[in-house]
Amino acid sequence: MAIRKIVTMGDEVLNKKCRPVTDFNQRLHDLLDDLKDTLAEAQGVGLAAPQVGILRRAVVVLDEEDHPIELVNPEIIFQEGEQTGPEGCLSVPGKFGMVTRPDHVRVRAQDRFGNWFEAEGTELTARCFCHELEHLDGHLYVEHIDHFLTEEELAEYYRQQGYDIEEGQED
Ligand code: ZN
Repeated sequence: MAIRKIVTMGDEVLNKKCRPVTDFNQRLHDLLDDLKDTLAEAQGVGLAAPQVGILRRAVVVLDEEDHPIELVNPEIIFQEGEQTGPEGCLSVPGKFGMVTRPDHVRVRAQDRFGNWFEAEGTELTARCFCHELEHLDGHLYVEHIDHFLTEEELAEYYRQQGYDIEEGQED
């Protein structure tokens, strides 16, 4: 297991469509382990293979209990509702933009051994599923925004949400 370098916006690897995973071998397991380590190190909520330069359809998303879910060849099979909030990306460090996403998402994916399963999430987890799956098709959240939020706009958003800024955005 290892921490891999996260590529940032401007690197063309982030704009390419990823190929499906066909071999559920040690190489894939190493990739998934590294994605989890790299995500934990970066203190993010999700990370997609292209963000570490690998054009394969694999992502890791933290669930509502902050446990990593490994999703190989994932697809969204159900979505409902709507949420609008600040979104960021480890490949666009230090920036946020307001993005509207479904509020409830269910995905179908394979695990590291090739077994199909379903996972679902609401709120931040639903947002994260959408965000990470878009990475697999070469898209970044910045395509959904008209500007990056200023610090004042971000602080104002959290104030309106009733968060205590001093303690961060976690509830
Ligand atoms: Zn991202």
